[in-house]
Amino acid sequence: MATPGVRPLIAGNWKMNGSTAEAAALAGAVAAGAGPGPDLLVCPPFPYLPGVAAALAGKPVAVGAQDCHAAAKGAHTGDVSAPMLKDVGATYVILGHSERRANHAETDAAVRAKTEAALAAGLTPIVCVGESEAERLAGEAEAVVTSQLDGSLPDGFAAAGGVVAYEPVWAIGTGRTPTEAEIAAVHATIRARLVARFGAAGGGLRILYGGSMKPSNAVAILALANVDGGLIGGASLVAADFLAIAQAAAAAPR
Ligand code: PEP
Repeated sequence: MATPGVRPLIAGNWKMNGSTAEAAALAGAVAAGAGPGPDLLVCPPFPYLPGVAAALAGKPVAVGAQDCHAAAKGAHTGDVSAPMLKDVGATYVILGHSERRANHAETDAAVRAKTEAALAAGLTPIVCVGESEAERLAGEAEAVVTSQLDGSLPDGFAAAGGVVAYEPVWAIGTGRTPTEAEIAAVHATIRARLVARFGAAGGGLRILYGGSMKPSNAVAILALANVDGGLIGGASLVAADFLAIAQAAAAAPR
């Protein structure tokens, strides 16, 4: 059950997939099928972001990026800044995804700096947290997530309406998911931590679930307390699947 008064968000993380033509076709199909209900967001790879943003202008689908640098400009070869993302039409940015934490050695402090940069540029950050399989098996999932939240979220996060995504690393792209009780428990822990840190504003922030969400499990997951939408990887590359998840969010009790 999405948090009362909170509009769910269904966000697609396209990762490093597609071409100019495929990005245009996917964005067009999502826009054509968008109905009332959750906020919709697609996050294409950097090169396709301006084209997708232009194609979706005026449509009920927002556009976001998958990362940004902590600096606004400068000698950072190959990087992209938050103001640049804003300039080409992005309104959201995913930060601290586990693939970036693992493949680019991003620490909580680095994610926090990037999140501050996103907020300064007027972007809505989606900050990802989640435990590894070993941490889950050791009973450390909630401690890990709490520590990541504390280290990754800057003070201005709640006032700017930042989004948290709970993404267990072992569930990403594997077809495996935690049980509904496990998802609900971690989301409750995240909510409590957000309220403890940010007060009432923390009670209204969106907490997304991500990790092998698909049409067949979305109805049950999106019905859980404190699940305010989803961050979707593989299923976001198929418009019909992404839209079916959005419909599940629209139908979830609130
Ligand atoms: C992700 O990488 O953010 C994700 C949730 O991927 P998938 O849906 O493919 O597990």
